[in-house]
Amino acid sequence: MKPPPFEYHAPSTMAEALDLLAKLEDAKVLAGGQSLIPLLNFRLASPAHLVDINGIAELEYVRERDGGVAIGAGARQSDVEDDKTVRRICPLLAEALGQVAHPVIRNRGTVCGSLAHADPAAELPAVLLAAGGEVVARSVRGERRITAQDFFKGVFDSALEADELLVEAWFPATTGPFALVEESRRHGDFALAGAARSGDRLALFGVAPTPVLADPTDPSHGLSPSGDLEATPAFRLHLVEVLVRRAFAS
Ligand SMILES: Cc1cc2nc3c(=O)[nH]c(=O)nc-3n(C[C@H](O)[C@H](O)[C@H](O)COP(=O)(O)OP(=O)(O)OC[C@H]3O[C@@H](n4cnc5c(N)ncnc54)[C@H](O)[C@@H]3O)c2cc1C
Repeated sequence: MKPPPFEYHAPSTMAEALDLLAKLEDAKVLAGGQSLIPLLNFRLASPAHLVDINGIAELEYVRERDGGVAIGAGARQSDVEDDKTVRRICPLLAEALGQVAHPVIRNRGTVCGSLAHADPAAELPAVLLAAGGEVVARSVRGERRITAQDFFKGVFDSALEADELLVEAWFPATTGPFALVEESRRHGDFALAGAARSGDRLALFGVAPTPVLADPTDPSHGLSPSGDLEATPAFRLHLVEVLVRRAFAS
């Protein structure tokens, strides 16, 4: 299918993008397009304006900051996965990226786009939560830092305001054992359930409307995952127990 009509904007600086987001009614940011374009084509979203951030060179970075790694909104998932600084400081993030979709999707998809999209079955939101990271949101009104715990609000819902651009994600250094384990029907599919471990911290994904922190000794406590054609709630709870055992085996 073709997307519904929209007006296309291609700012070349962050300031221009923020101005557009401040003045346009019903605008969406277009990053890698790996989630947004399918949503448009299936007519599940029909924004009046798309603000394409792909031409903003200042957002394309991966750098060491405050003992962790800062990832700009333009950084592609595949570049972050292969980045030496990321592999050294935050190997959990690199490991998780290897399990996001397929290489062709990671070549376009961005780390920040995945966080902004807030898919409850996605790996990166759970990694940000397990690691205790945060995002930086900017608008013409100013900048705010939002912790992972405050950022994910519900299914495809985050704390971002309509005029805000998620300009950077910050992942603290991985300390201690780490793991990203998940179960999916086929390699590259979204996970039926998954677990991200950073030291003693555990975040689960695919089992609640947002990624959730959990107690490694009783991980399914308080969870009531939904069921669908691929997995019943009971099967998802069973997966949680098995995956967490695997994540804490080392
Ligand atoms: C076949 C297929 C399989 C996939 N499998 C997985 C998987 O297993 N795990 C997984 O995690 N993901 C998976 N994905 C999704 C993929 O990782 C996307 O790339 C990612 O979720 C969104 O990143 P993007 O840069 O493409 O964002 P886009 O598609 O451009 O945008 C997604 C949403 O986030 C908003 N947005 C994007 N960037 C910003 C920003 N900087 N500031 C504010 N809002 C922003 C957009 O407005 C839109 O609402 C899959 C996608 C496909 C097509």
